[in-house]
Amino acid sequence: MHRRIDHIVGVLVVMMGWPVLVEAEQKLPDMTRPPNIVLIAIDTLRADHVGCYGYWRPTSPSIDRFAGEGVTFDRCYSVAAWTKASFMSMMTGQLPAAHGCKSDVDALSPSMPTVSERLRQVGYYCVAVVSNPLVGAKFGFGRGFEKYDDYTVFLDAELALLGAEKPGQYTGVGELVSGATVTRQAKRLLETARKTGKPYFLFVHYFDPHDSYVPPAPYDRQFDREYSGGMDGRDVNSLRNFPPPPRDLEHLRARYDGEIAYEDAQVGQLLRAVDEAPEGANNTLVILVSDHGEAFGEHGKLLHGNSTYSEEVAVPMIWRWRGVLPAGRRVKTAVGTNDIAATLAELFRFNRFETIHARSLWPALLGGPFPDADIVSDKCIFFPMHLSLTRGNLRLHARFANSPDKADTEYELYDVSKDPGEKQNLVAPDHPQMESLKSALLRVWSQCMELRKQHHVDAPANQVRLDDKERRRIQGLGYTETPGKKAK
Ligand SMILES: [Zn+2]
Repeated sequence: MHRRIDHIVGVLVVMMGWPVLVEAEQKLPDMTRPPNIVLIAIDTLRADHVGCYGYWRPTSPSIDRFAGEGVTFDRCYSVAAWTKASFMSMMTGQLPAAHGCKSDVDALSPSMPTVSERLRQVGYYCVAVVSNPLVGAKFGFGRGFEKYDDYTVFLDAELALLGAEKPGQYTGVGELVSGATVTRQAKRLLETARKTGKPYFLFVHYFDPHDSYVPPAPYDRQFDREYSGGMDGRDVNSLRNFPPPPRDLEHLRARYDGEIAYEDAQVGQLLRAVDEAPEGANNTLVILVSDHGEAFGEHGKLLHGNSTYSEEVAVPMIWRWRGVLPAGRRVKTAVGTNDIAATLAELFRFNRFETIHARSLWPALLGGPFPDADIVSDKCIFFPMHLSLTRGNLRLHARFANSPDKADTEYELYDVSKDPGEKQNLVAPDHPQMESLKSALLRVWSQCMELRKQHHVDAPANQVRLDDKERRRIQGLGYTETPGKKAK
């Protein structure tokens, strides 16, 4: 049951009809010595393929160990099922419908602040290395950063191709194995940041679990060695709407798990570098998260960007701040990935950093009361549109062409406590929660549309031109809405 949180905390400011909380009574960590902040994002990592989220394969020993040292959110829903929109929500706290970065060329409105901009304003040295062209600086992600490395992994690969059999033919970003390059660059950025003597914000984005599923040796054969079929983990996008037979599908999962295991080893190396800090590891807040999950045929689809069912939006989220946050704590209440921005905004008391439908996680991180709140997720690409609203164990899905307030919107409702796979549609006019959930979803949508207008999100100036190289890199990710071909 959703509760307005104004029962819990003191001061309430109402903006655009939605409660925006000023957590007057919330105890916050001591900020006499501001912490370094490391945000580790692993692209396309669904929560239930991670050991500390209950997965049966040993995909993630480093992440599992890290979770034991911090606070794990058992139910974190990404607010977007597509990379650019998802990371923009993490950095702004805004839902995709509000920030509007939902296509290849959309960039953030200059009037919408980002976490990195605000951190720089309070004295942080901000650096990043990213490995997905959809998280490029030119879309607004680079704001506030001293150095935003969105090119090294691609240049490395493209230079390597000069000596390849087919020079000049780019094989596609999806086939890159970039984790080691990301780790190397992140360590360099760490060294540079430490020399400044300032607190730093390091954003490290890993890409490998994203399709294609081509982990390097020995991870390519770590799982499912006995498979003898035709799936090699490449060109999965052509099967997006046509999941292959169960045995082939299982092999794709195994190859995806190999990618996770490879990336987990990289994360382990990065964490060791962070923890070997000469200034002491105890004052670094490390957040590990993913931008969306990955489907393996659960609702007739592969990959992500198809829906907001759990397989595409349930992601890991773990916070570690030694000496401040309790080790090994698990939070059962559902949260959203845009809550990261709201949490940092509260810690630093950012000025004029308003978000709708994001909330600070400090009560959960520090062990205070943390009631249910609605989480809204957005598919973002491909038609029809698909939004979901999560309230406690209920998940309401809405499919629509342009706006969910039209009569042709189709709804589905699931209780994930009894039906985690979201198969038994409970939608019925007399369901006791139906009207309340629908009206909450429509209210969020209209608030996002209003915010969009205020920030001129749809102005032509907020679309960027991609050069040929940038377009080729993005196309290499495989987000093409082709009907696909049937599996052999
Ligand atoms: Zn992604």
